[in-house]
Amino acid sequence: MRTVLIDDDTLALRLLALQLQHLGYGNITQCARPHEALALLESEFETIGLVFCDLQMPDIDGVQFVRHLARIGYRGNMVLVSGEDERILQTVRKLAQAHHIDVLGTLQKPFSLTQLQQVLLDTAARALLKPQSVHRTYTIDELQRAIDEGELVNYYQPKVSMATGALVGVETLVRWQRPTVGLVMPDQFISRAEEYGLIDDLTRVVLATAIRQAQLWRDNGLDLHIAINVSMDNLAALNFPDVVAQLARDSGVAPTQVVLEVTESRLMHDPCAALDVLTRLRLKRIGLSIDDFGTGHSSLAQLRDIPFDELKLDRSFINGASHDSGLRAIVEPTLDMARHLGMRTVAEGIETRDDWDLLRTCGCDVAQGYFIGRPMPAAELPAWHSSWAQRWQEMNAAA
Ligand SMILES: [Mg+2]
Repeated sequence: MRTVLIDDDTLALRLLALQLQHLGYGNITQCARPHEALALLESEFETIGLVFCDLQMPDIDGVQFVRHLARIGYRGNMVLVSGEDERILQTVRKLAQAHHIDVLGTLQKPFSLTQLQQVLLDTAARALLKPQSVHRTYTIDELQRAIDEGELVNYYQPKVSMATGALVGVETLVRWQRPTVGLVMPDQFISRAEEYGLIDDLTRVVLATAIRQAQLWRDNGLDLHIAINVSMDNLAALNFPDVVAQLARDSGVAPTQVVLEVTESRLMHDPCAALDVLTRLRLKRIGLSIDDFGTGHSSLAQLRDIPFDELKLDRSFINGASHDSGLRAIVEPTLDMARHLGMRTVAEGIETRDDWDLLRTCGCDVAQGYFIGRPMPAAELPAWHSSWAQRWQEMNAAA
C-alpha cells in the first residue's frame, strides 16, 4: 500500500519521508500542496493505506482536509502531525473519528524516530484488527435489485436500561447481503440510495421487516422498542407518518413501540415538510429520537423546533468519557438538559465498564454499545439476552 505525506513545509516533508524509508517504508508520495493530495486520494484511494497530514497549511487546514477525506469516502488510516499543542491534535482526531476516519496516532513536531516508530507500531497492530472494507460505488440498478430481491438484512443492536439492566429495545441496522460477496455496511450504500432517490423504498423495506420482527419477539414474550434510522429525505414524503402507522397497525405493534432515529445528514430541502411530517409522527404517538446528538449533524436548534422524545448522545462523547474530564463536561449537562426537556436519554458507543459506570452515575436512561452487545441477526438475540442477564447479575454482585 502507498503512503501519502502532506505538508506545505517541504523540509518537514523530506525529513518524514527519510525517516519512513529508514523504517522500511518504500512506496511514499510527498505532497506539498493539499489540493493535489486530495485529487490523488480521490482518484487512487484504493492504493493508499496511510496518510500523514500536517494541520497547518496555507490554502487548506487539517480540519478542512479531514472533511474532504470524509466526503470522498477515504477508508485508510491517518496520522496527524502538528506543531500545535496536544489538545488541538486530540480535537482534530475526535473530529476525524466523528467522520468515521481512523486516526491511528498524532505526532507533535518535532518528533523523534522512536516516536514515529511507536505510532507506526500502533498503526500496524490496529490495522490487523480492522476489517479491510472495500470502497465501491454501487449503481442504481444494483441498489434497486438489492431492495426488490430481499438482499437487505436487518441487524439489531440491543439497548438496555442502565438502572435495571432490562433489555428495553433494539436499534435496527441494515446490512446488504450481496450474493457471493458478503455483507456490505450501510455507510457504503445509504448515501448512494439517497442520491438515486431510492431511500424511500429502502427505508420501507427496513421498517416493514423490523416491525414484523417486533411482532415476532412480542409473541415470544419480548416487548421491545424497535428503533429505525430514517433519513431526512424520508421526511419529505408527506404520507410517511401514515405509512409507518399502517405498518405498525398491520402487525399489531403499538405505535409507541416504534422509534424513528433522525439525523440531519444533509441540508433539509424543505424544512416545512420535515416539520409537518415529524409533528404528525408524534401526534400518532410514534417515537422520535434525535440521533448522533452533539455532532455537526444535529443541534440545539433542532431540539427547539422538533418534538423529539429521545436524545441519543453521539458515541464520540461517550467513548473514553470516564477518563476525559473534557468529555464529562459535555456529557453531564447534555443529559441534564434532555431530562429537563422530558426526553429519554441514550448513550451510544459504550465499549468499556468504566464508561458504563460513568454514564450510569450521570443518570443516563439507556445504554447501547459493544460493552452490552454488538449488532446481530434477529435469531441471535435470545442467546445474547440470556448471557447479558448473567453478566448483569455478575456486575451487580461484584459491586
Ligand atoms: Mg442511529
